Amino acid sequence: PVVTRFAPSPTGYLHIGGARTALFNWLYAKHTGGRFLIRIEDTDRERSTQAAVDAIFKGLDWLGLNTDEPIVFQSTREARHKEVVQQLYASGHAYACFMTPEETEAARELAKAEGRALRSTWRDRTPDAAQLAQPHVIRFKGPLDAPLIIEDAVQGTVRFNTKDMDDLILLRTDGTPTYNLAVVVDDHDMGVTHIIRGDDHLNNAARQSLIYQAAGWDVPTFAHIPLIHGPDGAKLSKRHGAQAVGDYEDLGYLPEAMRNYLARLGWSHGDDEIFTDAQMIEWFDVTGINKAPARLDFAKLGHVNAHWLRECAPERLVGLVLDALKARGDVAENAADILTRTVPLVVERAKTIPELADLCTFALAKSDFTLDEKTKNLLTEETLQRLTRLHEKLLSQTNWDNDSLDQLLKNFVENEQVGFGKVGPVLRGILSAGQPAPDISRTLAALGRDESLARLKQALF
Ligand code: GLU
Repeated sequence: PVVTRFAPSPTGYLHIGGARTALFNWLYAKHTGGRFLIRIEDTDRERSTQAAVDAIFKGLDWLGLNTDEPIVFQSTREARHKEVVQQLYASGHAYACFMTPEETEAARELAKAEGRALRSTWRDRTPDAAQLAQPHVIRFKGPLDAPLIIEDAVQGTVRFNTKDMDDLILLRTDGTPTYNLAVVVDDHDMGVTHIIRGDDHLNNAARQSLIYQAAGWDVPTFAHIPLIHGPDGAKLSKRHGAQAVGDYEDLGYLPEAMRNYLARLGWSHGDDEIFTDAQMIEWFDVTGINKAPARLDFAKLGHVNAHWLRECAPERLVGLVLDALKARGDVAENAADILTRTVPLVVERAKTIPELADLCTFALAKSDFTLDEKTKNLLTEETLQRLTRLHEKLLSQTNWDNDSLDQLLKNFVENEQVGFGKVGPVLRGILSAGQPAPDISRTLAALGRDESLARLKQALF
């Protein structure tokens, strides 16, 4: 059975690229009926922080990329990492190196001159017990000059030669295990079968595969995915805007939209743009991952989000809009009621939650707002008379839904023998409190009977 994992280093927020890596691993596990695991690579004590761990979990939770299985913290596994180094040492796949910094530098120079990677002068020596009591590192002892091929599920056949690969340090002088060793031991012990990660780790894959072989373990399938680039094709960076998953939440994107969009970023299924989770899970395969870097496209993301906003359950949407409005300032006590009427009437014009909140503000305005200049100017004596007649019609109207109101307005202008332009703009100005608002029947429906009549009365009498 397939086992995938997401293995972030907790040195900052959950990056959008990391989120996509997590998603691909999650999708592939679901697709194959396998398991998705999470490992926090917190061995770099200086750079790892609890705040970053929390931020990563918060981002994964929000995206719905969870695991039911225990989270592995790499730092808790040091004893096991050392144990494996001892085994590699005992089996002749590692050696103790006592080179001083100067000697290492000289060895490096020599390596350069000979067009190969660094080898220690201790590679083939056997130190005695007294020597072993001296400070030293443990290095990996791999083949000196042999072709090494990684059959990567995304990159295809990638060729290396061990001649270009240093005798990797496995244990530092202070006895702490190094990164590549820890990753291999953990992935092996966790039973990981497929490693899907950023292609910045492709060189590590070569080193890691040597360690697997030396330990006598199966090498997992590697799938190295290209990084995400900004809309201009350059590597994604701060100047492109939102990078942290939390930023996207704040910008008003829905997690299901992010899953949909991120899945499409670098992976494709025909020309399909919109995917439910079930469809992504059914169709996702590493073979569909693109080799070329994907470009973040905010217009597309907006389009996908607009779709998922329309699919969203009204109560959830109202809650999200209410939160967005509360973050801006005080909201009226009855705001939830008003939003429950308004949100469904305007949602199709919004691409994000803040946009949706903007589209609802007209309905939340107090009835005693003052008319804007433009509306005041439209309110001539003739118009005033006409709107007074409309007010009467509305007073006797009991069905206050969009369709009934639309019919009422059509009948009204027909009776008055005027074009809609004589009624529409001014009515909209009166009802909308000078805010963007949907068409008039929707505006009336969103405001509700009492509020609509109150606003009209305020303007007319
Ligand atoms: N911890 C590594 C990173 O955050 C990922 C290592 C891996 O996936 O093997 O880049």
